Amino acid sequence: MAKKASGQWKGQDRRGSASQRGYGAPWRRLRKRILQRDLHLCQPCLSRSRTTAADAVDHIINKASATADEMITLDGVRMHFDDERNLQAICNECHKAKTAREGNGGKPKPEIGIDGWPLT
Ligand SMILES: [Zn+2]
Repeated sequence: MAKKASGQWKGQDRRGSASQRGYGAPWRRLRKRILQRDLHLCQPCLSRSRTTAADAVDHIINKASATADEMITLDGVRMHFDDERNLQAICNECHKAKTAREGNGGKPKPEIGIDGWPLT
């Protein structure tokens, strides 16, 4: 009889920050598909005529803006929050800037100037 290892995850790592909670294998597959679709190029950079390798996949409309049933409206079209049309490849730099803009829970956060004080 094989000894039963207790408390051991079977190749599963469900840790992660609060914002990543709930992103399992389906999300990883979706993420890979978006990166392939966007040719691993950061889309916000691309729109500014810059070619940057993407590191992540981003929701164009923040989850905080989704309704309780996880629906969002993008370009006047109602769709699920995880719809491929609401996803884009993004680089670390753009992702950080976008997250900072959106803030936690979608609350607008003041931009911080180079002196460390919020710009008002
Ligand atoms: Zn970028």
